[in-house]
Formats: sequence, C-alpha cells, structure tokens
Amino acid sequence: MAKKRVLITGGCGFLGSHLCDRYLKEGYQVICMDNLLTGSAENIAHLIGNEDFEFIKHDVTNFIYVPGELDLVLHFASPASPIDYLEMPIQTLKVGSLGTHKALGLAKEKNARFLLASTSEVYGDPLKHPQNEDYWGNVNPIGFRGVYDEAKRFAEAMTMGYHRYHNLETRIVRIFNTYGTRMRLKDGRALPTFMRQALKGNPITVFGDGSQTRSFTYVDDLVEGIFRLSQSDEVEPVNIGNPQEVTILEFAKEIIKLTGSKSEIVHEELPDDDPKVRQPDISKAKRVLDWEPTVDRIDGLRKTLAYFKEKVDKSNG
Ligand code: NAD
Ligand code: UDP
Repeated sequence: MAKKRVLITGGCGFLGSHLCDRYLKEGYQVICMDNLLTGSAENIAHLIGNEDFEFIKHDVTNFIYVPGELDLVLHFASPASPIDYLEMPIQTLKVGSLGTHKALGLAKEKNARFLLASTSEVYGDPLKHPQNEDYWGNVNPIGFRGVYDEAKRFAEAMTMGYHRYHNLETRIVRIFNTYGTRMRLKDGRALPTFMRQALKGNPITVFGDGSQTRSFTYVDDLVEGIFRLSQSDEVEPVNIGNPQEVTILEFAKEIIKLTGSKSEIVHEELPDDDPKVRQPDISKAKRVLDWEPTVDRIDGLRKTLAYFKEKVDKSNG
C-alpha cells in the first residue's frame, strides 16, 4: 500500500520540525514547506537524505503547487513570538489569512484533511478562567497583538467556512504556550529569553510585576495531542496545553534555580494587552482524544536546558 503523504507548512519552525519527525515515524511521506522567515533549515538538517522527506522553499501566501496526492495538510506557517509579530505585522496577517486560504485551497484540490494551528491567543486577555473552547475571547483588534490574534481568528473562520461550504475535512488545534528543543535562542518568548539570560548570567527581564500567568506545555506532549487530533473525527477546536499554571515571576525563579545561575530579576514595562492569565481547560481533549500531558514542567525544563546550554556555548564560542 502507498504511504500516506502529509504537507507541513512552517515545517522548518520549532513545532513544524517536531511534527516532521513525528509523521515520518508514523510512516508518512512528509513534505515540509517553509520560506525560512522565522524558521531554520538547521531544524530539518537531520532529515535531508531521508527518501520519505522533501523540503520545498515557498511562501505559502502565494499559490501553492504540490505534485501528486496528499492525505493531510498541517498548516503551521506563521510567526509565533510576540517579538516576531511586532516586527512583521503584515507577514503575520498575510500568512494567517492568505496563507490559510491557499493551504485550504490545496487541501480541497487534493481532497486531503486539513489541520489548522490555532492558538490560545484567540481568547485574548481572557475574562474567563480557565479557558474552554466555548469561550469567544476578549481581543483588542487594533493592539499590536491584534495582527496575530485576529489573523488566527480569521483562519479559524475560514477553516470552518471550507468545512461547511466545501465539506472539507478540517481540524483546529488551539495551542497553548509550548516549549522545547529547536526554539530560537533569540526568539523573544519568555522561556528562551530567560534560559539565555540565566545561562549567560545576565539579568532576567520579567515584564510588569510578573503576576501574569501562563501554562507551559512540553513539545512532545503537544505533538502527541496534534497527532491524535489529526486522526480523530473532531471538527470543532480542541485546546491542547498543560493546565499546570505558573506566574511569570515564579517561572523566572524556576529557571534561575535550574540553571544554578546568579542572575538577578529585573522588571521591565509590561507590553500592551499582555494576557493577565492563561490556562487551558482540557476536558475536551481528554474526552475526544483521550489525551493529557505527561511531562511535568520541571522535567520538561530540564530536558530543554541541555539544548539551550549548547546554543549559548556555541554563540559564545
Ligand atoms: P516558528 O516561528 O518556530 O515556526 C513558524 C514557521 O513558519 C517558521 O519556520 C517560518 O519560517 C514559517 N513561515 C512563516 N511565514 C511563512 C510563509 N508565509 N510561508 C512559509 N512559511 C512561513 O513558530 P512555532 O512556535 O513553531 O509556531 C508554529 C505554529 O504554531 C504557528 O502557526 C503558531 O501560531 C502556532 N502556535 C505556536 C505556539 C507555541 O507555543 N509555540 C502557541 C500557539 C500557536
Ligand atoms: N515575558 C517576560 N519577559 C520576557 C519575555 C516575556 O516577562 O523577556 C512575559 C510576557 O510579558 C508574558 C509571558 O512572559 O506575560 C509569556 O510571554 P511569551 O512571549 O512567551 O508568550 P505569550 O504568552 O505572551 O504569547
């Protein structure tokens, strides 16, 4: 029997590259499509030469051409760090809107299943806590986060449009803050920043008083949830995240302790619209995917530290 084929947009990014690995392991042929805007060829270097793997350099906001059949399209292309979408607001809006349209059009042409990487940011600065999938969110459309949040909300609407109008098989995952190997050292998100600062002995920059909360998911848990969702019948969005909630100040202290660093914490201005709380309600993922996270935050941080240590040593060298 012919192998199944999956196209992964954003496949050179942090999450996309881990998904390339997972779907290869599951026996798929994997086509990774990326324009290297925020991703790196380094993340897929180990796959070059694998006969089931192919890399196509392409900007998915333009018409996507892929020869042959496809069973699945995973649409992960998009800047994902607040620093990235602050610096690249138009690319962020375009890949969430035009890019999603092109990826959906391709899935329809190939009669493939489509899975959208959405985000907890669709809930904005949530007035409901924890967030379940029925909550519609509290988003400022004109704030600097609006380019990301609204593009993802549009992408969800477009995905449901293709499902309802074209009967396309679609899936939507709402991903909560995820961390692990292959994040960029200068990614700007809390975890890579704190790890870099701690390993270099520089001050740890906590924005505001650090009382805002997040719930961090280890990448292997996320990938498992996404794989299960892609194989499931669930059309409406599913939260995938680790409900272990922590304040950012506490998180910074955990990283200082883990690295054994002498870094001090300094407070900087809180960016506009920074969500005050974030924690997934994962009852639905448990129910429909039989999924829940298995990696405790401290264990996950320990696994990730070795990777960042090597990156910092290289950047010093
Ligand atoms: P990332 O920046 O590491 O990866 C994104 C990838 O998309 C990069 O390789 C980039 O080059 C590529 N890309 C961007 N625009 C493109 C375009 N126009 N054409 C082709 N490729 C393009 O980010 P990530 O953390 O791996 O996030 C991947 C996806 O998951 C994003 O859609 C993001 O919104 C979503 N997500 C991630 C998190 C998280 O915690 N990492 C949380 C919520 C949602
Ligand atoms: N943050 C911080 N210092 C940094 C980077 C981020 O205090 O150097 C805070 C940020 O304001 C937010 C939290 O850490 O409250 C998580 O930020 P991140 O950029 O990782 O993702 P977000 O969940 O905000 O999209």
